[in-house]
Amino acid sequence: MTEREKASRRSILRALTAGGAGTVAGLATGGLGTLGGVVAGGLLDDADAMPETPVSAPGVPTEGPWRPAPAHVDVSWAVDTSQKLVALTFDDGPMPNWTPMAHDILDEAKIPATFFLVGQRVRKNARLIHGRMDRHAVGNHTWGHSDLSRMTHEQSLQAMYRAHAAIFEVTGKEPQLLRPPFGNIGGATLSAAGQLGYHVVLWSLKMREAYLGHPPSRLVDYIVDSCEPGTILLAHDTGHRDRLVALRGLPAMIRGLRARGFEFVTVPDLLAATAAKSKA
Ligand SMILES: [Zn+2]
Repeated sequence: MTEREKASRRSILRALTAGGAGTVAGLATGGLGTLGGVVAGGLLDDADAMPETPVSAPGVPTEGPWRPAPAHVDVSWAVDTSQKLVALTFDDGPMPNWTPMAHDILDEAKIPATFFLVGQRVRKNARLIHGRMDRHAVGNHTWGHSDLSRMTHEQSLQAMYRAHAAIFEVTGKEPQLLRPPFGNIGGATLSAAGQLGYHVVLWSLKMREAYLGHPPSRLVDYIVDSCEPGTILLAHDTGHRDRLVALRGLPAMIRGLRARGFEFVTVPDLLAATAAKSKA
């Protein structure tokens, strides 16, 4: 167990034994009462006693033998590493104005990023990213920015696969990472991601433009101060005008993070830093 995992377990124990104890005990009592009632009414046989299961909930899509290759799906919020690495990610593009602005800043600073692309925007705005993706990694953000937590396995596969094909065709890079829109996940998201061999990538820090955007230096300080080794940082290259504060502040964030000793890497390179650590 790493030091970080030990610390996290200690904080869970503290929460359970300190102020949390009353809540936990209360939950346990309430929970047992409810469970007792459900059991008395027939735990699995009585359909009325069960809330309706969303179509997106089942994590196994078929009755028969089903085993994606690989037989597991990884989900990462960040990466455990002691190296001062951070992965900057952009969601929702490519879009006019925003995406070229992001690329200009990244080119100027000579740093890589990971773009989670929306398939139909890739088709429509292919010219915006032509010749500009060499240094960067790509990921799949579905065909039409769908909420995968509401979709069946088949619908999820469709939303992912159409985007996969568009991204590969336009950028020449085959995406291996999935970022579910809104960070929402269902069981079917995982089974579809497994079928396509995707690694699901969420984030551990995001630009909080609407809350910390005024004055702009507040957002810069928040990002520079909050990055830790292995952080996956979420930004957007489109959206409400509020979000421009993040792009405008990006050069200062890059300078600040470099001054703290951070190096910018793509998400695949960040994930490789964990793999390298666990092999060592
Ligand atoms: Zn999005």
